[in-house]
Amino acid sequence: DVRFLRSEDGSGKGAAMVTAVAYRLAEQHAERQRLMEVKRRMEEGMKRGLARDTHDSASVKMLPTYVRSTPDGTERGDFLALDLGGTNFRVLLVRVRSGKRRSVEMHNKIYTISQDIMQGTGEELFDHIVHCIGDFLEYMGLKGASLPLGFTFSFPCHQTRLDQGILLKWTKGFKATGCEGEDVAALLKDAIHRMEEFDLDVVAVVNDTVGTMMTCGYEDQRCEVGLIVGTGTNACYMEEMENVELVEGDDGLMCVNMEWGAFGDRGELDEFCTQFDAAVDERSANPGKQRFEKMISGMYLGEIVRNVLLDFTTRGLLFRGKLSERLKTRGIFETKFLSQIESDRLALRQVRSILQHLGLVSSTCEDSILVKEVCSVVSRRAAQLCGAGLAAVVDKIRQNRNLEQLTVTVGVDGTLYKLHPHFSTIMRETLKDLAPQCDVSLVQSEDGSGKGAALITAVACRLRDAKK
Ligand code: BGC
Ligand code: MG
Repeated sequence: DVRFLRSEDGSGKGAAMVTAVAYRLAEQHAERQRLMEVKRRMEEGMKRGLARDTHDSASVKMLPTYVRSTPDGTERGDFLALDLGGTNFRVLLVRVRSGKRRSVEMHNKIYTISQDIMQGTGEELFDHIVHCIGDFLEYMGLKGASLPLGFTFSFPCHQTRLDQGILLKWTKGFKATGCEGEDVAALLKDAIHRMEEFDLDVVAVVNDTVGTMMTCGYEDQRCEVGLIVGTGTNACYMEEMENVELVEGDDGLMCVNMEWGAFGDRGELDEFCTQFDAAVDERSANPGKQRFEKMISGMYLGEIVRNVLLDFTTRGLLFRGKLSERLKTRGIFETKFLSQIESDRLALRQVRSILQHLGLVSSTCEDSILVKEVCSVVSRRAAQLCGAGLAAVVDKIRQNRNLEQLTVTVGVDGTLYKLHPHFSTIMRETLKDLAPQCDVSLVQSEDGSGKGAALITAVACRLRDAKK
C-alpha cells in the first residue's frame, strides 16, 4: 500500500524526484478510484446527516438554515452585516435597492481579532465585536440608528429558526470559552445591552457558504450551491424539504449547511491520510475534528507542506539536512506563499527568494524544485478532494430531481480558491470527471458572506413586513 508522498528512497534529491514522478504516474488510476470512493462516502455521509435516526452519529451534520429561497430582486433597505470566521472580521453597511435601480451598495471596515481574543472568554470576544460595531456606526455617521442586522457566523450552528444559532463547536483556531452550546445571536444581544450605546435588531444568523450562495443567486437564478475554500472549507445547497428530516414539512426547498469540513471525523478518510495529516491534526486546536477541512483549506495546507519538508530535511533530502528554527515554527507557510511558490510565471530563483524570505536561508536550486513539487502535490490533493465532495453535492441535487442531466451554478468564495494558481482548474477537472451528468458553472462571488447576510436579512424583513 503505497501512500501519498511516501518516498522510500533516501539516497539523494534526484532519486527522490524520480521516485515522486514515477509514483505519480503509477498512481493516476488508483487516484481516480480513491476519489470516486471519497465521493461515494460523502453521498453516504450526506444521507446520514439528513436522516433523523442517524443525524446524531453523523460527521457531516447537514444543518438546516431556514433559508428557503434565493433572493428575487424585490428586497430593499439598509442593513448591517457582520462577518466573523474568515480571514478578516468585518462590519458592513449594505444598501439594497429594488426595482429598476436594483443594486447593492456596500461599505465595510476590517477589524482585527487578536489571538488573545480568539482564545479568551466569550464575553470578551462579543464585547470586542460590539465595540467594533460601535466604531463602525460612528465612522459611517450612523450613531444611534437601529438597523436590522445579519450575522455571518462561519462556524457550525444548530438552527431552529433564522434568527438563532447554537454554536456546536468552534473550528479554525477559535477557542473562546462559554460559547459552545450557546445561541450566538443571544451572546451578541447580551453584549449590545452591556454596552448600552445602541440597539440592533438581529434578524439572521448566516453561515458564510449560505451568504455566498445568496449573493451569487441574486444575479443567477441557477445558483443553488455555495462553496468556501478559504481559512476553512464548507458547502451548502438547496435540498428538498422532504429530505430535511430535522424540519417539519415536505414542501419546497431549504438550504442545508453541510459542514463538510467534519467529513472524515468518523474515520471515512483514514486510509487516505498520511503521517503528515496526522501530525497536523494532532497539533491543531481540535484534534480528531474537521479532518476533511484539514486536508483542504488554507489554514492547514501550509502546515502539511511544512511537515513534509521537516521530514525530508531530517532524511537529508533538503536544506543540506539542517533543520532550522524557522522550519520548526508552526504557521510559516501562509496561503499566499503557497500560491506564490506554485505560480507558473515564477522562476526558480524567485521561489528561492520566497524560501529565503521565510527564513529558509540555506536553500539551493534543487531545494526550490523539490519544495515546489511538494506544494503542488499537497494542493493538488486538496483540490481533488474538494472536487470529489462537490461532485457528491451536485449529483445529489440531480438525483433529487430525477434528471438525466443537471445544469447548476455554484457560488464560490475563499482566499485559497481565489489566490491559488491551479486550485480551481484541478477542482473543475475532478468535478467534471466524477459528475459527468452535471453541467456546473463555478462563479466567484464578490464579498459573498457580507452581502449575502444582508440579502437574507432583507428577505426576512420583507416577509415580516408582509405579515404585519
Ligand atoms: C466552518 C464552517 C465554515 C467554513 C468556511 C468551517 O471551519 O465550520 O461553518 O463555513 O469553515 O468558513
Ligand atoms: Mg469569508
